[in-house]
Amino acid sequence: MAHLVRNGGRFGTLAQDIKIDMAKVRHRKQVMVEREIAFHLHAYKESGAELIMGNGQFVGPKTIEAKLNDGGVRLLAADQIVINVGSRAAIPDVPGLRDARPLTHIEALELDEVPPHLIVLGGGYTGIELAQAYRRFGSRVTIVEPGTQIMGREDPDVAEEIRAILSREGIDVALKARPWSVHGLSGDAVIVTVQTEGGKRPIEGSHLLVAAGRIANTADIGLDKAGIGLDDRGFLRVNDRLETTAPGIFAIGECAGSPQFTHVSVDDFRIVRDNMAGGNRGKSGRLIPHVVFTDPPLARVGLSETEAQREGVSVRVAKLPMRNVLRTEATDEKDGFMKVLVGATHDRILGFTMIGAEAGEVMAIMQVAMLAELSYSSIREAVMAHLTVAEGLGPLFGNMPARLQSQS
Ligand SMILES: Cc1cc2nc3c(=O)[nH]c(=O)nc-3n(C[C@H](O)[C@H](O)[C@H](O)COP(=O)(O)OP(=O)(O)OC[C@H]3O[C@@H](n4cnc5c(N)ncnc54)[C@H](O)[C@@H]3O)c2cc1C
Repeated sequence: MAHLVRNGGRFGTLAQDIKIDMAKVRHRKQVMVEREIAFHLHAYKESGAELIMGNGQFVGPKTIEAKLNDGGVRLLAADQIVINVGSRAAIPDVPGLRDARPLTHIEALELDEVPPHLIVLGGGYTGIELAQAYRRFGSRVTIVEPGTQIMGREDPDVAEEIRAILSREGIDVALKARPWSVHGLSGDAVIVTVQTEGGKRPIEGSHLLVAAGRIANTADIGLDKAGIGLDDRGFLRVNDRLETTAPGIFAIGECAGSPQFTHVSVDDFRIVRDNMAGGNRGKSGRLIPHVVFTDPPLARVGLSETEAQREGVSVRVAKLPMRNVLRTEATDEKDGFMKVLVGATHDRILGFTMIGAEAGEVMAIMQVAMLAELSYSSIREAVMAHLTVAEGLGPLFGNMPARLQSQS
């Protein structure tokens, strides 16, 4: 909203003396979260399920001790158990980092002030979403990323486009910069010394946010007492049906090593629910989309070019800059591009990536097309409404190179 108002002048809407009231921003977020909690509490009540607020740990096979938030302990035993303990922000082992009491995403959403200079450790989706938000609230922001690109799981051209968008907004992105040491206290003054190809260099800031990956909440929950195994990264070892190594005990969501998105945790739940009811559903072969809520957002479903290469899948690739999508003439949202992968010897769509306004919604169209195994030409020939972003899919597929002759 701050960004929109600040840039309103381009559209002839003039606003002056824009101020950010972080207490109000935070209050609005809190009310939103409280509404969601109330919704879920109501759903529990309606379902008849008992909700016990407390910290659980196995004390024997299929037996859990819950330390209640209100005090006291309850012992629970069941034939079937689902573990859904999630993950938390990892704090990398950098000298001085823990002592600097850095923010994680939790504290970063509880600030009553705009940090004068926020240093963000990690250029993954959490890091860049919060970096852009605070930049738009008025912070100076520096992202420190040890890799050669931000968003290591995306194609280099995608990461570079997002980096360029962030840089144009005034965010400093330090690539190939490994945190070496941290001095000071987040919220007061911090110095992060980074090791780069050119040597060590200090970055001085006021606040420090760590967004450097997640670790599963699987330690200290008595898994050994219940015969439940972990993989070498500390996630619960599960089979395709999301069963752990202990019969009758399932695991879902991030603690089970599933891709780290809410919609995946929800789908894991559906799989386990059906398997508990006697079904036989697996998690393999799912088409999993994701959206990074930067502005403009980044959305992807299916293969990236890098993944196609790694998996030896031959593809044809077409791209379309967002400035060639007619709607962006009207809305002035010209950053980004669409990119689609189609089989080299067949016409099915294998992957779609988009950086641009409404990317998540346009991606959903492509996801449905992929689920239906539509040929890409049926979307190229479809009559899409003018003046929508989806109208760009026609020219995007119009850029598709001709099919290679199948070897067989
Ligand atoms: C900043 C940020 C932004 C994100 N944005 C998106 C997004 O836009 N879209 C998206 O799809 N995903 C997003 N995610 C990811 C998404 O939040 C997670 O993938 C999802 O919440 C995982 O669900 P889960 O059920 O596995 O675990 P969680 O939601 O973490 O739930 C686990 C629960 O278990 C509780 N717990 C832990 N240990 C115990 C114990 N011993 N006993 C009892 N309870 C315990 C925890 O307190 C927690 O309530 C985001 C994540 C972060 C950090």
